[in-house]
Amino acid sequence: MGSTSKRQLPLSSSSSSSSSSSRAASGQGNAAVRPKTPASRRSVTPNSRVHSNEDDSDSGRVRVAVRLRPRNADDLLSDADFADCVELQPEMRRLKLRKNNWSSESYRFDEVFTESASQRRVYEVVAKPVVESVLNGYNGTVMAYGQTGTGKTYTLGRLGNDDASERGIMVRALEDIIANTSPTSDSVEISYLQLYMESIQDLLAPEKINIPITEDPRTGEVSLPGAAVVKIRDIDHFLQQLQIGEANRHAANTKLNTESSRSHAILMVYVRRSVHEKVEDEISSQEKVNRSDVPGGSRIPIVRKSKLLIVDLAGSERVDKSGSEGLLLEEAKFINLSLTSLGKCINALAENSPHIPIRDSKLTRLLRDSFGGSARTSLIITIGPSARHHAETTSTIMFGQRAMKIVNMVKLKEEFDYESLCRKLEKQVDQLTEEIERQQKLRKNDTDEMEKRLRECQNTFAEAEKNLVTRSEFLEKENTRLELEMKDFLNELNHQKDLNVLMRDEVASLEMSLKHSKLQGQKCIDNQHHKFVCTLLPRVLPCLAKELWAAFSWNTLTIRGASLQWEF
Ligand code: ADP
Ligand code: MG
Repeated sequence: MGSTSKRQLPLSSSSSSSSSSSRAASGQGNAAVRPKTPASRRSVTPNSRVHSNEDDSDSGRVRVAVRLRPRNADDLLSDADFADCVELQPEMRRLKLRKNNWSSESYRFDEVFTESASQRRVYEVVAKPVVESVLNGYNGTVMAYGQTGTGKTYTLGRLGNDDASERGIMVRALEDIIANTSPTSDSVEISYLQLYMESIQDLLAPEKINIPITEDPRTGEVSLPGAAVVKIRDIDHFLQQLQIGEANRHAANTKLNTESSRSHAILMVYVRRSVHEKVEDEISSQEKVNRSDVPGGSRIPIVRKSKLLIVDLAGSERVDKSGSEGLLLEEAKFINLSLTSLGKCINALAENSPHIPIRDSKLTRLLRDSFGGSARTSLIITIGPSARHHAETTSTIMFGQRAMKIVNMVKLKEEFDYESLCRKLEKQVDQLTEEIERQQKLRKNDTDEMEKRLRECQNTFAEAEKNLVTRSEFLEKENTRLELEMKDFLNELNHQKDLNVLMRDEVASLEMSLKHSKLQGQKCIDNQHHKFVCTLLPRVLPCLAKELWAAFSWNTLTIRGASLQWEF
């Protein structure tokens, strides 16, 4: 239940009554003097974005339908001689409440269901628009109010195990939600609670009792962090959870020696949907511009987190404060507290009162967003036909009439999904790190290979250098040896040259002697000639020939670049 600033005046067409009291309640007079404010709002905070439906300013008003239960055996027995206390005019969406035999009052509702209305039709008119809103990212509430035995649980919580057409709003809502969400990108979770004597018990985890309500100081959103939250896989899983909840509710009530009609059952359905491209098309281009992009081109994903509350209230009849039901006065006060506070809040909101006593009870705190808040709310009031319960039926109808005046400022629960962006970026970082590691590994392999090759080259070079040094040392030695040899040879040559000169002189001397001897006698010449040819020449000539041949062969030899030449 919202603060005064959020409260809106009812629309003149929304509710009207033929009686003076209900006319006042319809707000017709007020509508002329008070400005109409949009029933939905828009926020520009980076974390939450809000869409408005300004074209449909009535969209935030609490919708109220009335359902009449068929006569039961009791009614047939006790009212056999009496007419029903109500008369329905469904085509006019009106209900006539008989005061006495002569007068009646007529009230208009958003929908009037006769006793023959099917569960399917009730769902489609009352709850389906709320479920669709929840699927679109708005909070929603469907609540049943009425006297015990008028059909609240039948309307909301019927499981319809034997006959699917009997299924109530809870099951049908979950069927629609499951069918319209993706198990991969979306999630549907539930909590199922009972509120009794201002204590919240967990119907899915019965050991959790007295669960505290916490409020976000910034947004005012209420939550129950202590309650079990079960992720729903499919409709059978949900039915299973509902059955567990019902069994726990029964067990808890037996233990507390009370009836379920004294407690409020609250089903909370948390729907989390990722906004895909298709939905993004609905976002105005300006908003698309406003949406900040992550550096690097990744667009911040958007998530819609909405909550559906389905509330099966305790019977609206008051517990006798005198304690006639065996209760202490204090207990009776507590049992009534939440429902009484709800009535007060609805009155205050309907009357545009400056103070809304939200904090007076746990129920009103839990329903803060449903009446005067940002949720789309539908209320179904259930009544019986019997005149015996005229007073309760009247008070139920008046409750519904007042609730019809409340206009919520419907707000889209959409935010940037930093969580999933973070996951996406972390994944990218992991991929990049992997890539960098792969590249580093490749580079290291390349470096290792290059180093290996470098080492091989260095080894080869060292080897070559070593060989070169050895070779040059060898050549050095060889050179020295050859120089020495050459020197010896030159000496030898010079010696031979001297010998040649000596020989030539000797030959010349011999030729002279020969010439001289020619003159002295042929015999002597022959003797001399014979001596030369037979003794001296055979000794000298081979030696001379050998020396000449060697000199001829070596005269072109080059050692260390210096040409050694000699003359014969
Ligand atoms: P409440 O929860 O308001 O105390 P229930 O839902 O338990 O009332 O209804 C009381 C009895 O009336 C149940 O047996 C239920 O089956 C029956 N009942 C209520 N509404 C209808 C209806 N529209 N059609 C048929 N039976 C109904
Ligand atoms: Mg009930």
